[in-house]
Amino acid sequence: MTSQSPAIHAPGMTGTQSATPAASVDATSPARRVPLPRVWPVRASDIVALLVGNAVLIVLMWIRHGGLDQLSTSAGMVTAAGQLTALLGTYLVLVELLLMSRSPWADQAFGTDRITAAHRWIGFGATWLIVAHVVLTTVGWSMGDGSSVVAEAWTLLTAYPFVFWAAVALLMFVFLAASSIRAARRRMSYESWFSIHLYAYLAVALAFAHQLLVGRDFVDDPVARIYWMGLYMAVVALILVFRFGQPMALSLRHRLRVERVEREGPGVVSIYVTGRDLDRLPVRAGQWFQWRFLRRDGWWRAHPFSISAAPNGKFLRLTVKDLGDDSHRFQDLRVGTPVYIEGPYGIMTGARRTRQRVLLVAGGIGIAPLRALFAGLSAGPGDLTLVYRASRPEDVVFRDELDRIAAARGASVHYLVGRRGTPAMPDDPLAPEPLGRLVPDIADRDVYVCGPIPMMDRVEKTLRALGVPGGQVHLERFAF
Ligand SMILES: Cc1cc2nc3c(=O)[nH]c(=O)nc-3n(C[C@H](O)[C@H](O)[C@H](O)COP(=O)(O)OP(=O)(O)OC[C@H]3O[C@@H](n4cnc5c(N)ncnc54)[C@H](O)[C@@H]3O)c2cc1C
Repeated sequence: MTSQSPAIHAPGMTGTQSATPAASVDATSPARRVPLPRVWPVRASDIVALLVGNAVLIVLMWIRHGGLDQLSTSAGMVTAAGQLTALLGTYLVLVELLLMSRSPWADQAFGTDRITAAHRWIGFGATWLIVAHVVLTTVGWSMGDGSSVVAEAWTLLTAYPFVFWAAVALLMFVFLAASSIRAARRRMSYESWFSIHLYAYLAVALAFAHQLLVGRDFVDDPVARIYWMGLYMAVVALILVFRFGQPMALSLRHRLRVERVEREGPGVVSIYVTGRDLDRLPVRAGQWFQWRFLRRDGWWRAHPFSISAAPNGKFLRLTVKDLGDDSHRFQDLRVGTPVYIEGPYGIMTGARRTRQRVLLVAGGIGIAPLRALFAGLSAGPGDLTLVYRASRPEDVVFRDELDRIAAARGASVHYLVGRRGTPAMPDDPLAPEPLGRLVPDIADRDVYVCGPIPMMDRVEKTLRALGVPGGQVHLERFAF
């Protein structure tokens, strides 16, 4: 294999083959540089420090309000624990809303995968703390009053302002957390799960009133009241700006429409989207948008898809595999359909690169963002290698494009096609030994990986075994 010509390995093909180099890459190659998304001078550690600092401040304010003075009796201790769990649980709910705001600086600092994981665990943490608050406060107050827990609960629900609505909010949070347990989530459509999540906003609003009128931090101390209201307002502002304002401005400015839909393979289409001033839309190869196609059926459902062509100032392209209801409908989208986008998001881009040489490992439709990176990453001859894993030859999409890009850029592309455990492919080609043989200098490369989750987990293990440092591995999972 020479670095100038792509090597092609595929069961059913005889050994290693070289594609004929084409004179130039087709219309999907970068035509004009577009602006890069703004780089925010914020690191993940800065955001974590800010969040932890706020939590400490909340506990200090609680101490200032005499929180520790209650610890002399057992009823006081239980009540104090009830107050602390309320404050920290509410704070974690606000952190959840912050993550839901899709603020670009948080996205760039953490990346989609870490935000998704944090959202999941902070959500469970907040729910447990709020449940603990309800139990501890009821028990603590009943111990203090010498009444039964049931009688105390009844008094709280009926005599205190908005506690009844806070109880409704509690049920909503518990239902929301239950729907996110993996076993329940698997049985539920994405749309149902997402709709349940919208109740989070209502639950926060319902609980806010009781915090304002019953919570000690609010009632006794104007500074704490202003501080907490500031936290709520900051989070609401971020949601309004980044979930509504910025996407609306982006879509109005660029007036995006479906230009054409091209079939790439069985159940896979590329959707070309054009619009005004696309050379002024900041996006990087490897990033994704939330796409909303404004048709009568389903305009309200947004789906994440990566761009599958490097930004070129002329069109955006997404490549969609038919994996469910909407991705099935997108297979024959009408030309001219208006498009609304949110984003771009994601950190699987050249901005994360640490090495001159790069390996891209794609599985199935995970080729979409890597196809964009293959054309979009700056690289000299021999710097870029793409390993593309697919179960069947017909599942390989973009073959012509990839071969032409490889030829034009002096890159290599290896197609590893076949089902594992069959005579054509007895062993896993992504195991350490075969992958190390295919890319001997792998430990000295940045590695970008995208594909089905089990494949990505296997590749991560392989990369560890081959000594690729974690900081050189960049991944995006196609799942929230
Ligand atoms: C960051 C990211 C980038 C992606 N890029 C691509 C891409 O370039 N090409 C591609 O073909 N696929 C991509 N996907 C996957 C794609 O978003 C889903 O296949 C698609 O949303 C399925 O919608 P559906 O209504 O057809 O499927 P459904 O039948 O509703 O569900 C099928 C699967 O898709 C998940 N899903 C459904 N809707 C959404 C949604 N709105 N958000 C997140 N997950 C959802 C479901 O949880 C389920 O696992 C990407 C996913 C993510 C998270």
